Amino acid sequence: MEVSFYFVDKTWPELEEAIRQNALLILPIGTIEEHGRHLPVSTDYVIVSEVARGVAEKLKGEIPILVLPTLWTGYSAREVARWPGTIRIRPLVLIQLIHDLLASLIEMGFKKIIVLDGHGHHKGIIEVALREIGDEYGIYPASVSPASLSAELYSRIRKSPIGGSIHGGEWETSLMLFFKQPVKKEEFTNEDIMRYHSEFVPGDNFLGSKGVFWSTWGIQKSETGIYGDPTSASEKTGRAIYEEILEKLSQFIREFYFYEPES
Ligand SMILES: [Zn+2]
Repeated sequence: MEVSFYFVDKTWPELEEAIRQNALLILPIGTIEEHGRHLPVSTDYVIVSEVARGVAEKLKGEIPILVLPTLWTGYSAREVARWPGTIRIRPLVLIQLIHDLLASLIEMGFKKIIVLDGHGHHKGIIEVALREIGDEYGIYPASVSPASLSAELYSRIRKSPIGGSIHGGEWETSLMLFFKQPVKKEEFTNEDIMRYHSEFVPGDNFLGSKGVFWSTWGIQKSETGIYGDPTSASEKTGRAIYEEILEKLSQFIREFYFYEPES
């Protein structure tokens, strides 16, 4: 029988053994949020869960890894709740939730933890939780954004114009096509491409400066619940993005796992 890499499939003696082996934990964090007329509200949840599964498979036999259940909810800006399907947790509550999840795992004895950040509104929230954990326990989990890991390759292969890959655009739609998720092609629209783009504020998640944070949702109103161009999405692009994410993520996991912090 195949040995499961899912944390929740284990008994406590098996987890005790995993702690003894210094197993690395992956905590994927998604959310449930509307993604336009063409993508299910599970999009962020599905993508981050598939990344966790894929990297655990890729590193099997090399690094002991356990994948936690994906945190299925989180914080979205109120603007995104104009459409049904967006479930919102307040930022401070989410910081505390992530903190408590990590604290439980660290108090159990786990030391190497990677958080996979699968939702654009979570960057600051996750980083605050990780800083608090570091201060309290002297253990420093890392947060990784699959989207950012794929940015370089994606910029080379994308077909959408600037503003075509923010929310429900080419990047997410391509991945969901590749994962054989229920994507409604007949609902594809490119009427809500992000038109704003400047030297300081990139009108796209995959291009330009990251020196300024100014929420897309406050710059331009969306009519359909997306910012982007799903019409240029393809399964082929999705596969290339996914393979790039798994390659870069496994490189970082090796670096993170084998590094012994100086004392
Ligand atoms: Zn999304």
